[in-house]
Amino acid sequence: MLKKILITGAAGFLGSHLCDRFIKEGYKVIGMDNLLTGNIDNIAHLFPLKEFEYYHHDVSKFVHVPGQLDYILHFASPASPIDYLKMPIQTLKVGSLGTHNLLGLAKQKQARILIASTSEVYGDPLEHPQKETYWGNVNPVGPRGVYDEAKRFQEAITMAYHTYHKLEVRIVRIFNTYGPRMRVDDGRVIPAFFSQAIRGEELTIFGDGSQTRSFCYVDDQVEGIFRLLHSNYSQPVNIGNPIEISIGDFAEEVLAMVGNPEAGIKYVDLPIDDPKQRQPDITLAKEILDWEPQVERSDGMARVFEYFKTVVK
Ligand code: UDP
Repeated sequence: MLKKILITGAAGFLGSHLCDRFIKEGYKVIGMDNLLTGNIDNIAHLFPLKEFEYYHHDVSKFVHVPGQLDYILHFASPASPIDYLKMPIQTLKVGSLGTHNLLGLAKQKQARILIASTSEVYGDPLEHPQKETYWGNVNPVGPRGVYDEAKRFQEAITMAYHTYHKLEVRIVRIFNTYGPRMRVDDGRVIPAFFSQAIRGEELTIFGDGSQTRSFCYVDDQVEGIFRLLHSNYSQPVNIGNPIEISIGDFAEEVLAMVGNPEAGIKYVDLPIDDPKQRQPDITLAKEILDWEPQVERSDGMARVFEYFKTVVK
């Protein structure tokens, strides 16, 4: 019998790539989404397959899946700062009530569950690079708190189910990841800069551009998640690319790659609580998963540029 996996947030950027990967690996995949920020086009190519089923559902309500279930990947949540600022209550609910429902389902089915956590649990980090042992610097009542605290609660309740119910759990802390199927208007820096550069607009650098991020190509991220699910490690693991760049330098890279002479740069206000630096320490992932990123930024950027050329109007 084929192994069966439920993937929530299946129509989202990461969720849809995970659906593809698990189908390719010979699993039966149930993709669940409420399309709040997901896009059905991301999984439309899977609909003809008998190994794929789609359930339109909001996981913050009771989740029912008939029959056997071996694995759950919980990837449903608004994930870009402008999305979770627009939808603060839904963001809190999917991370808290949604996670609770899926943990309950995992317990009932005796399934292993992997939850998508985030580098945002480290907040505006005072330790650099960030190791899994760092507890973070989060403003609970700031605008980003709705996402950061939902994900922190998600980790806490997941560990509680592991400790008290002996549930098999995996926790991935995802650092900035990019690739095809990112929503053009999701407000994150990569879709924003590419769409502005392609349209010949000014790239909007928030603040003075000295803040840093470390960008991981989606194929590397999916490989890390796949390995973590099949590992025997139940504590959080960072998955991300440790190569760090300032947002100002990154804007220059995008301008050079797109090569549109009409594009330029403008500086706008830095959002409240925007982390000043972010870089994963991936020592743990290397040790326990034998994983490290394979795709260089120049290569990943070239691939995502091809995608943005087809979707930016
Ligand atoms: N950013 C920017 N211009 C934009 C969008 C984002 O300068 O149009 C900056 C943002 O302030 C942050 C970084 O790029 O420092 C990454 O932002 P993103 O929204 O992609 O994700 P975050 O890492 O903050 O969750």
